[in-house]
Amino acid sequence: MPSSLHMLPGAPWIAHHDGSLRVEQVPLQHLADTHGTPLYVYSRGAIEAAARAWSDAAGGRDVALRYAVKANSNLAVLSVLAELGWGFDIVSGGELARVLAAGGDPAKTVFSGVGKTDAEIAAALRAGVQCLNVESDSELRRIDRVAAQLGVCAPVSLRINPDVDARTHPYISTGLRSNKFGIPQALARRVYTECAQLHHLRVVGIACHIGSQITELGPYLDALDRVIDLVRDIEHHGVTLAHIDLGGGLGIRYADETPPRPADLLGALFARLDGAGLGQRPLLLEPGRSVVGNAGLLLTEVVTLKSTLERHFAVVDAAMNDLMRPALYEAWQDIVAVRPRDGAQARHYDVVGAVCESGDWLGRERLLDLREGDLLAVLSAGAYGMAMASNYNTRPRAAEVLVDGDRAHLIREREAVAALFAGEHIAPR
Ligand SMILES: *Cc1c(COP(=O)(O)O)cnc(C)c1O
Repeated sequence: MPSSLHMLPGAPWIAHHDGSLRVEQVPLQHLADTHGTPLYVYSRGAIEAAARAWSDAAGGRDVALRYAVKANSNLAVLSVLAELGWGFDIVSGGELARVLAAGGDPAKTVFSGVGKTDAEIAAALRAGVQCLNVESDSELRRIDRVAAQLGVCAPVSLRINPDVDARTHPYISTGLRSNKFGIPQALARRVYTECAQLHHLRVVGIACHIGSQITELGPYLDALDRVIDLVRDIEHHGVTLAHIDLGGGLGIRYADETPPRPADLLGALFARLDGAGLGQRPLLLEPGRSVVGNAGLLLTEVVTLKSTLERHFAVVDAAMNDLMRPALYEAWQDIVAVRPRDGAQARHYDVVGAVCESGDWLGRERLLDLREGDLLAVLSAGAYGMAMASNYNTRPRAAEVLVDGDRAHLIREREAVAALFAGEHIAPR
């Protein structure tokens, strides 16, 4: 193969160089030799570029960026974003602990989620989070009670459910009235009024989050219109909302999607907000996937090639426990050879893992020319990849590496098998 630099679409940080794939300046073959597979590989430059696309899009407006930790919660990733001045959106006490351990600022952290426990609420209040995004009237009273016990006043923002269709996969749609999320729009004013009677609460805003992998502006604008109506109604009744939080959800390109860029989204949102006279109101956003999704890949080795009467299978050493999106949402992620062959033996392979489930596949019908031992890269794996990994089939979770120029940092060690049952006990007879 001639010496060439061939960039993959949408991911300029990953390119073929002399016939072999590199992340920034580090060859993937070298990473596999050093750290083994399966291995998650992230590009620091790509994370920073995606984060800058958001901060540049803010263009001097009062926009507070709160990275949604659940997309990829590795401490190194959180620390890169904390250094860029980002805050965080968390959905559990565990994520709060991660933010603090990574040097994140609790005063720039918002706490979302439908089932916050007393202990989680107390930890968040003690840490001094920016606000709790409240999802029901009963949670509101719970927060008031916990705050009273601690002798503090809890900053709260109500997450409303605007009943709009994000037009994404049903499992990642969260803004329909049939979903479990948020306070129904019709009840929002009543719940805001209730806040006035609870003395350990301070209302700081209004929030919504309508879903994930959103590839159109329409659903965002529909949600914003409902939020604007509510802000007017609620403020008319004497409650002031210091900020408006429109959540996360912006999609990325996995195949041929053409999601709006952060600048397109913010431009459209500010046009509406300005039109409604709310353009000066601080705006919070909680992007996750769009910050890290295309900044990571999953590196895996072909263990076995196997053909049945019906199909060709490439069994690889990564599986649904490492990357669940294909099994869970039938998600499509590109799969490329680290060192592509000449194509003479190319076949349509189902790329599958070794887990005992027929749903355990990473890609179907992929035209690849493979031999056992070849390395494959599953692209666009930076978000909801490692974060959703499990130990199903007693498979240790993968290691993670962050590439920075010509250096590669191990940011999570490969799990040891013994650690998987270290906390288990055989019961006496
Ligand atoms: C998941 C989630 C996000 C982030 O969504 P992305 O699609 O990753 O941008 C933001 N806010 C809340 C409340 C969430 O649950």
